[in-house]
Amino acid sequence: MPTSPLDYSRGITFGYNPLDRRSEEREDGVLLAAALADAQARTYVLSGDRLLIRPGAADPGTHDPAAARDLGIDMATALLLGWLPNGSPRFAARLSVDPDGLFGGYELVDLRTLAQEALIGADSYGPVAQARSMLGWHERHGFCANCGHATTIALGGYRRDCPSCAAQHFPRIDPVAIMLVSLGDRILLGRGTRFRTGNFSCLAGFVEPGETIEDAVRRETFEEAGIRVGRVRYHASQPWPFVSTLMIGCIGEALNEDIVMDATELEACRWFSRAEVSRMVEGTHPDGITCPPRLAIARHLIDHWLQTPSTG
Ligand SMILES: [Zn+2]
Repeated sequence: MPTSPLDYSRGITFGYNPLDRRSEEREDGVLLAAALADAQARTYVLSGDRLLIRPGAADPGTHDPAAARDLGIDMATALLLGWLPNGSPRFAARLSVDPDGLFGGYELVDLRTLAQEALIGADSYGPVAQARSMLGWHERHGFCANCGHATTIALGGYRRDCPSCAAQHFPRIDPVAIMLVSLGDRILLGRGTRFRTGNFSCLAGFVEPGETIEDAVRRETFEEAGIRVGRVRYHASQPWPFVSTLMIGCIGEALNEDIVMDATELEACRWFSRAEVSRMVEGTHPDGITCPPRLAIARHLIDHWLQTPSTG
């Protein structure tokens, strides 16, 4: 992923998105019509969590208007994600034909594999995350939450309108606080019950209504580990397109040491020293304990802490 002097988020998988969404200029449909007619338009085509790619192509993750037509894509229902800095529009569409029947060297690759193996251009990961979340929202919001009537697509996909009660519905995201909690020169990591064997990561949980990000960090850390957190600082965020999560990475300072683990959420949780975390990152821990891969914001929080001199 590209590094950026602007913020840490842009260096995290799915965090760099070069598209200009031009949200304020979409109302009259002129931009959408021009984008649909633009020969430089390219479309990300997805089937659930998988992106249709064409290995070896100049831009393996997108498809030009002729290819989209051949793939049976109805561009009238495609979502206009935005424009690249060179003015080229980017759309998202769902694959509606049987992928087994496709000719032309196409492959469907799930987004995690796509990110870990760098199969598409670095400037495509943010737009692909955007595409996955947007398509998922449209698939699940075809009816008005206010009156139950079928809704219609508006603003190239950035709104759904109800023709019956005039309610307007906007794409949602689900914020999750994920936190690196430190005590002196140690950090708190846990193992979820569904984690890969040996893998420890930062604690995390959904931010609830009426709650600040800082208090979500404090509540989740106390609920899962019995640790009180004082100061909380924001570090970076990551769009996590499974389906519309925004991971909000924070760094918190613990106020107590004794862990009281919630066994329904975690199967292990403890403090890790700097030397131990270094070995986990290097893959040389004597007990085979590992950290999450660079795909995950948790790993970026851990790496950042390793590179930061201890203040405690
Ligand atoms: Zn309605």
